[in-house]
Amino acid sequence: MSGVASTPRHRIAHIDNAGNHLVIHWQDGHRSRFDALWLRYACECASCGTYHSAIRSLRLVDIPEDIRIASTRVGEHGTLDIIWSGDGHASSYADEWLRNRCNSAAERDRRRFRPVLWDNGLEGHAPRRTMPHAWRTAPHIWRYWRR
Ligand SMILES: [Zn+2]
Repeated sequence: MSGVASTPRHRIAHIDNAGNHLVIHWQDGHRSRFDALWLRYACECASCGTYHSAIRSLRLVDIPEDIRIASTRVGEHGTLDIIWSGDGHASSYADEWLRNRCNSAAERDRRRFRPVLWDNGLEGHAPRRTMPHAWRTAPHIWRYWRR
């Protein structure tokens, strides 16, 4: 998981390591708390495996409940790099990936899907598309109607 820091909301300014959890202070002023057990289970290094490859050797039951974060640092590409207590396993998490998983109420609300309702609130500013755009986005529908 390597990321390229693009905006202050995705750049880590500071990390407070409390052992069983950590708090990331982002450059936009927001703070995110992540529990150690959650972070350890989210490791997708070559030995832990990833869900994308369907090769996953790390099981939740294999992680000690009292696992602790031995050390943290901001990596070369803005990643959160962790060394774990016990086996000294090393994990790295992309900054943007972490921010998109922040569990604060504000971040969950920001990520919430907000559909545009097709009611009288659209009067005067209904969505408009050109015909070529419609042909590109729904060609099967246009083929049906043009028969
Ligand atoms: Zn790992």
